[in-house]
Amino acid sequence: MANGLTYQRTTSTPEATKQLAATLAPYLHAGDVIVLDGDLGAGKTQFVQGVAAALGVRAAVTSPTFNILLEYHDGRLPLYHYDLYRLDERWQLEDIDYYSAIDGDGDGAAFVEWAEKFPEDMPYDYLEITITADGNGTRRIVAHSYGSRSRQLLCVWANDSKSRLG
Ligand code: ADP
Ligand code: MG
Repeated sequence: MANGLTYQRTTSTPEATKQLAATLAPYLHAGDVIVLDGDLGAGKTQFVQGVAAALGVRAAVTSPTFNILLEYHDGRLPLYHYDLYRLDERWQLEDIDYYSAIDGDGDGAAFVEWAEKFPEDMPYDYLEITITADGNGTRRIVAHSYGSRSRQLLCVWANDSKSRLG
């Protein structure tokens, strides 16, 4: 497996987090998997909202905490937004098509909150985005690639977001 890349940024508003997320959207392909880590309220769903808007999703993107999975099919690419926070048993992952969404062969991009609850069911190749609240209202956003495919994704995204956002 290729060595992982790390890319780090700081945002000071929810809008800035969405703007950063929007710069990732053009590079997403069917089968891409993004795992979002961070405490409740860190900004994981805000990040997905930024991606969705940039993909052209018109529906309001809300937290899938109660639905576990919310999906959007009106953007450039199908978007699958998982939140495993309230899921208790591994077998339930089958019911929500989790394995086919994260096996790299899906027809859309999958964003997963609380994937770390099921360490035995981590995607094979994924971009991990960790969001940490910094006390003074800012968020530290660290992206790390696990696998060659996500490394490629992170490489192009990092270059582009640096040139767009400084
Ligand atoms: P999570 O999905 O990680 O539980 P949400 O995205 O639902 O968190 O909520 C993040 C909350 O933090 C929102 O209320 C948002 O307005 C607030 N917030 C404050 N500063 C930021 C920031 N820089 N980036 C993202 N969200 C922020
Ligand atoms: Mg959330």
